[in-house]
Amino acid sequence: TMMRKLMVAGNWKLNGSQVMLRQWLADYAESAADREAVEVALCVPYVYVPVLKELAAADVTVGAQDLSAHEKGAHTGEVSAAMLKDVGAELVLVGHSERRQDHFESDALVREKCQQALSQNLTVVVCVGESRQQRETDKTFVVIKQQLDAFSDLITADNVGRFLVAYEPIWAIGTGLTASAEQAQEVHQFIRSQLAAKDVTMARQIRLLYGGSCKGSNAFELFSMPDVDGGLIGGASLTAEDFMAICREA
Ligand code: PEP
Repeated sequence: TMMRKLMVAGNWKLNGSQVMLRQWLADYAESAADREAVEVALCVPYVYVPVLKELAAADVTVGAQDLSAHEKGAHTGEVSAAMLKDVGAELVLVGHSERRQDHFESDALVREKCQQALSQNLTVVVCVGESRQQRETDKTFVVIKQQLDAFSDLITADNVGRFLVAYEPIWAIGTGLTASAEQAQEVHQFIRSQLAAKDVTMARQIRLLYGGSCKGSNAFELFSMPDVDGGLIGGASLTAEDFMAICREA
């Protein structure tokens, strides 16, 4: 992980308020952490992106949790990449398992969303991961490869710095059941080797985040793994205290 700057990205999901965001940013500003060692990002609900942009210190990357697969037009309720850019977003999650499950997002749609995000020079964090059943029936690598193959050709020497992949085993999300560092490393190594088959330099440069019940007490072990370049944090990102406890392990 020497040459790859670690990222710790919070994902608030459907949580938060303006009051909570202001408090979080005030607490973050006061916290002692090595701001050089780790890139910190926070992905908030769309409506809070402008507030985050306005109040965040320059060292917090402003993130959203999703975007439209369309550029514009008759798509009621959608938010485009250009709109995100317009209000100051710098990063966007794509293909989170909750989007794939609750909103039936396909690999093809995930690809289109990546293309939209890249068209606006947004940093993309694409999420991949297997279900418990898929792991128990030894389909983990097949599933990850299929998810990766849907978008990996979009990663280039030019955009690899703002293209990340988050490995989030579904069975570990919000369950308190973290993947062991060895389980995470095994899949991260697989992802990097898949990408290396296409472009070795790009595969060495791309940052791979782990997500799934990551917290202060397990972050160090996970981030110590050679192919784990940081984390995507759900529950433990809701307070700056918990979140910074993870950042300090990076
Ligand atoms: C997530 O949903 O991206 C996530 C990692 O959630 P949690 O940390 O709560 O498991």
